[in-house]
Amino acid sequence: MAGPLSYSSYRTYQECPLRWKFLYVDRRPEAPKGYFTFGRVIHAVLEELVRPLVEPAARRYGGQGQTTLDAWKGGPPAGPRAPPSLEEMLAAYDRNWSSEGYGSPDEEARYRTLGRELLVRFHEHLVRVPPHPVAVEEHLEAEWEGIPIHGYIDRIDRVDSGGLEIVDYKTSRELAPDEARSSDQLALYQVLVERNYHEPVHGLTLLHLRSLRPVRALPRSPPALEPLHARLGEVADGIREQAYEPTPGRHCARCEFQSICPEFRTVAGPDGERLAALVDRFQRLREEEGRLEGELAETAASLHRAAEELGVHRVPGSRTVAVRRREIAWQYTLDAVRPLLESSGAAARLAGEGPEEVRKFLRDPKVPAAVRRKVAETGSRRVRWYWELAPPENGGS
Ligand code: SF4
Repeated sequence: MAGPLSYSSYRTYQECPLRWKFLYVDRRPEAPKGYFTFGRVIHAVLEELVRPLVEPAARRYGGQGQTTLDAWKGGPPAGPRAPPSLEEMLAAYDRNWSSEGYGSPDEEARYRTLGRELLVRFHEHLVRVPPHPVAVEEHLEAEWEGIPIHGYIDRIDRVDSGGLEIVDYKTSRELAPDEARSSDQLALYQVLVERNYHEPVHGLTLLHLRSLRPVRALPRSPPALEPLHARLGEVADGIREQAYEPTPGRHCARCEFQSICPEFRTVAGPDGERLAALVDRFQRLREEEGRLEGELAETAASLHRAAEELGVHRVPGSRTVAVRRREIAWQYTLDAVRPLLESSGAAARLAGEGPEEVRKFLRDPKVPAAVRRKVAETGSRRVRWYWELAPPENGGS
């Protein structure tokens, strides 16, 4: 029903299954946000900028599925492979620019300047140190041991060692030094590339566009990928089961569905009044329950004292008979006999120090009787008395 899992779909479900339903099943739109628009525009310009450098052998062909490097048969097309000029790139920036989602003209202007600055720096760097991309904005699909996945990968480069490097552009303010190593997004891309290309993945890189600083990591080993596969499996199972419970947390602050989420929704009018009356009644009963519990314990204790004093275990009332019952528990303090257990080799037969394990040990014919006796002598018997109500024996009033 939901199709293959993307990284963002997986993350959304993990955070809150109900929000996932609003987005992916009900297809409710969210208000555009300036920083998302900004990221989209920058990605679009970078795609235009880098696509001419793509090794032709990596290109994919419409309607023919995903063409791997090994499968490409076309031979290199004619023509130079050079990025657009700075002017062409800035023209592409203007063409792609969108005002959607910014809070104010000032905010939009700040982002626009920032975008221009980082693109100019990127262009300079690209001309000076051209990468060797084999794909840009590549959509890949795969089945990862029973779980269908997909993703759009910003860039896949060929590295000097001959393998492939996955590059993900980040327009965010900061990147932590270990962010690439801990990134499940990059790990998912690694799996997608490994299942679509016959060449090994040699590196995972987050490219921080504001500083052009790459944050690199080695690809994850198969055992290191297992926890991610297990988490994806849980998400896929939850989606299959249509388990859409709201899961509130700090992320709710940026959720636009609060007004329709049971965790935040409020009901006004007669329905609201009906609910409020039920809450009040529930609260009163809870208080009553607490008071009754206290009164019950007090009465049972008084009954216990009186029955003890008068030596009776069955006390008729006007409609029922209160029967005094007992529960016996044994407790053992093994410290005193531990050396004996060790020296006799019986310690290994004691599965634990809880009363049940010790009682089992005491019945174990493989343990010498003298040792069992010593252990039994460390026991103390605890009796708990309680009352049960039974019908009167003659069935009378
Ligand atoms: S408000 Fe919170 S709990 Fe409700 S759907 Fe949004 S993220 Fe989930």
